[in-house]
Amino acid sequence: MRPEILFPLFAPATSLSGVGPRFAKLFESLTGGPAVLDLCWHLPSGVIDRRYGPPLAEVIPGRIATLTVEVDEHRAPPSKRLPYRVVCHDSSGSLELVFFHAHRDYLMKMLPPGQTRVVSGKVEVFNDRLQMTHPDHIAPPEEAERLKAVEPVYPLTAGLSLKVVSKAVHAALERLPELPEWLDRGLKDREGWPDWHEALRRAHNPRDEADLSPLALGRRRLAYDELLSNQLAIALVRDRQLKQRGRVLKGDGHLCDKVIASLPFQLTGSQRLALAEISADMAAEHRMLRLLQGDVGSGKTVVALLAMLTAVEAGGQAALMAPTEILARQHFQTIEPLAQAAGVGLTLLTGRDKGKARQAILEKLAAGETAIVVGTHALFQEDVAFKDLAMVVIDEQHRFGVHQRLTLTGKGKAVDVLVTTATPIPRTLMLTAYGDMESSRLTERPPGRQPIDTATLSLDRLPEVIDAVDRALTRGAQVYWICPLVEESENSDLAAAEDRYRALQQRFGEQVGLVHGRMKGPEKDAVMARFAAGETGVLVATTVVEVGVDVPNATVMVIEHAERFGLAQLHQLRGRVGRGSGKSSCLLLWQGPLGETARARLKILRETDDGFRIAEEDLRLRGAGELLGTRQSGLPEFRLADLAVHGDLLATARDDARLILDKDPELAGDRGKALRVLLYLFERDAAVKYLRSG
Ligand code: ADP
Ligand code: MG
Repeated sequence: MRPEILFPLFAPATSLSGVGPRFAKLFESLTGGPAVLDLCWHLPSGVIDRRYGPPLAEVIPGRIATLTVEVDEHRAPPSKRLPYRVVCHDSSGSLELVFFHAHRDYLMKMLPPGQTRVVSGKVEVFNDRLQMTHPDHIAPPEEAERLKAVEPVYPLTAGLSLKVVSKAVHAALERLPELPEWLDRGLKDREGWPDWHEALRRAHNPRDEADLSPLALGRRRLAYDELLSNQLAIALVRDRQLKQRGRVLKGDGHLCDKVIASLPFQLTGSQRLALAEISADMAAEHRMLRLLQGDVGSGKTVVALLAMLTAVEAGGQAALMAPTEILARQHFQTIEPLAQAAGVGLTLLTGRDKGKARQAILEKLAAGETAIVVGTHALFQEDVAFKDLAMVVIDEQHRFGVHQRLTLTGKGKAVDVLVTTATPIPRTLMLTAYGDMESSRLTERPPGRQPIDTATLSLDRLPEVIDAVDRALTRGAQVYWICPLVEESENSDLAAAEDRYRALQQRFGEQVGLVHGRMKGPEKDAVMARFAAGETGVLVATTVVEVGVDVPNATVMVIEHAERFGLAQLHQLRGRVGRGSGKSSCLLLWQGPLGETARARLKILRETDDGFRIAEEDLRLRGAGELLGTRQSGLPEFRLADLAVHGDLLATARDDARLILDKDPELAGDRGKALRVLLYLFERDAAVKYLRSG
């Protein structure tokens, strides 16, 4: 149960005076949440300094000024299109206040002739006259000192003015309770951090730009609070998981040996090391939850298969879950001959299996006749049952689905889990998503791989690119042509791809294929199959070209509007080529003007194809949320912490969380109780449930 002290913060924003349902809705879309607390966490992004207030004669045009003036007269315009003017003066000069679409009655009330008023806003010179258009503030003279302040500027959204947002945020801050300190005193003193309440107050009352920096002490403290709650929550879940007894899965090697013998290649050192780590983990008493990271083409599939076979050797069943239909099929095709070599029952289960055929598959799984199943989300369906599911491999590519992972593991007893990902995850991000989850990395490429030549070209040089495609086709090579990601809609994505398809068809005729997200499954498969068989030479695709697709003869990758793609995504797409023994190239076509980030991204791609380095650079360039090219990555998003700048705090938070739980595993002491409040504050309620007296 949420502690009572937090109730005012979790009350809906409508509980604040002046916030009705209409504003509340806008606030929710602005701050990402409906509560008073969400407003407290809506931090300013800028400041307006209103302290400047010289006599009119000395005002420097272009600046924001707060001026005390006497109102002389109102000049209503002869036409509605012209502005309404209010002439004012002080002892040194004069000023005109300018209003468009003015309401005379209102302005007469605000600015009565003969009275003194303080006005604040940007001063400009127009036709040699000093003027201020739509002052931000108009107030009686006694408020001059109050107005002459530094005012925070908040990020806004359509329908919300700065005034409305500032007012609501400050009303929300009035509700801040005094919370018990959850930070370690030593750390807090060392860092010079303020109390939580004071930190928030400071964050909302910046005096200058420096106060807005994420490195300002108050902001760092708030970021740390958030990271600590994240690390503490993960540590709690993890402790619980480790305490759960897993099962000991020890293979005798009879199946693995057969598969290894039938491989046309030797395992790389990296693969062998990863396998050793995985089988040690499977043989241990606790449940395995391990990540297998490796670039596209680094050979994860074989490793995953051998791990599954180990589970089968130990008498259990195994499942491999792919994020898409195409990938599931591809994995199945790769694994099928190897499973046959080992004499192991293998089946495929996707959403396309229906009726009797599906029923037959399910029966074999339930009876244990099928040892390994490869599939898609279809594996999660309720009626899918196993005789004895012992191990699950989740091929996440760049998708993360913690919930799905749990659903599938619920289908067996103490199931060991291996998650494979082709997006190398920087250490920092690993921590936020998985805590200290074990990970194996395939850093070595299988031998014989040619490096990929990467060139960046302006889209103006399209004709040259098409000539290059022509030469590639003449040599018998195949080409992927990835069409631009269009922001607005899937439809425009499709239109762009169809246009390109037609244009290339005019030049290359029937050799061109098209695949896109709107196609039905079998249709998509047919196009892919023709390309894989070499019947088509150019495959035009929207980004739906599933990242795991393997066509060794495809050696040219063209990506249009590369500037619109994320770094990780470009790296993934590039990894589609360079899979065979031929020399491969990647042409990144961009359209200017290029922003600084886009330029830096393209440069990194030219410089390296080391996925781990690319991931680190991506994190640095774009921040964590966008790292995976999609906001729906499932990685936690932070409100106050920005890993690109607060990365150093994460390791501290991890160690802190460990230490806390070692000393006070039930969070029962004074600091422990304060930490519970912290967990609730950041809505990690689920983690608190793991505590005995939660
Ligand atoms: P990933 O899933 O990591 O992208 P795959 O497992 O699909 O990579 O492997 C890519 C290709 O490399 C496959 O054709 C696979 O047969 C091959 N391969 C895997 N391991 C090796 C190895 N040790 N030596 C040579 N080729 C390998
Ligand atoms: Mg793969």
